[in-house]
Amino acid sequence: MNEDFLRRAIELARSAREGGDPPFGSLLVGPDGAVLAEERNSSITDSDITAHPELKLARWAARELDPDTAAGTTMYTSCQPCGMCQGAIARSGLGRVVFALSTEQLLGLKSGGDFPVVPTEGPALFEEAKAAVDGYYD
Ligand SMILES: [Zn+2]
Repeated sequence: MNEDFLRRAIELARSAREGGDPPFGSLLVGPDGAVLAEERNSSITDSDITAHPELKLARWAARELDPDTAAGTTMYTSCQPCGMCQGAIARSGLGRVVFALSTEQLLGLKSGGDFPVVPTEGPALFEEAKAAVDGYYD
């Protein structure tokens, strides 16, 4: 763990807040220790609920990095990635995540607590749904 990179992520979080957005920031550090990209949360100024810095960096990495480089990359982030970002990070092939605040610590600082859970139903229509997927991954 490199605390200087974590401090930079916290600095990006402060900068997001100063710009009118939620206080979260992240950066990607390559296998050689070079900073490859930095992002701030911009969900308010972009009117985009998905504009979390971790998601923006995961999308950037999947587009711009070859798989070996991505696997050697560490994301330093001011707060533990949310479920949405964790999914994108896993799909992007990044090697590691280092965070400052945990989700639990964040929730302790936040009024209103956690996000609501949306009711979900399924599975259903297995044969019909299976036909759309069958053979795709062969
Ligand atoms: Zn997120």
